Amino acid sequence: MENDRTSPINIDDELSMDQILETTPTEVLERTTAEIKKTVDALARGIDKILMNQETLQRNIALLNQQKKDDPKAEVPAKKKKPTCEECDGPHRIFECPFLTPGERFSHAIAADLCINCNNRHNGDCRRKPACSKCEKKHLTIYH
Ligand SMILES: [Zn+2]
Ligand SMILES: [Zn+2]
Ligand SMILES: [Zn+2]
Repeated sequence: MENDRTSPINIDDELSMDQILETTPTEVLERTTAEIKKTVDALARGIDKILMNQETLQRNIALLNQQKKDDPKAEVPAKKKKPTCEECDGPHRIFECPFLTPGERFSHAIAADLCINCNNRHNGDCRRKPACSKCEKKHLTIYH
């Protein structure tokens, strides 16, 4: 009984908007309105800026993702910077190694999924002309 929290809050004490308008001097009201307007304008400008930044951010993220996608491709030809032969440590790839037999070179090239006519990886037939200077077939001379 003492702790009756269900009783409704007495709202009679609160000032109604009408009362505020009636009792506040016009100049104070005008000043307040102007102030509020300034705040709203500033807020709107702030939101504009945030939205613009977000756009820039999204564009940057998209760019970064693009670069990430491109990066692996750009890094894969690491064999382009001075290859080291696993067989003899020479400055060539293992399927070009002069210390291996043509058969061994050939197996390495096939294992690495390379075209034996150009030592590159590509789909379909090789577009280069037959590379062999010994038999003029579509393979490099190193495989003889
Ligand atoms: Zn070698
Ligand atoms: Zn090829
Ligand atoms: Zn040949």
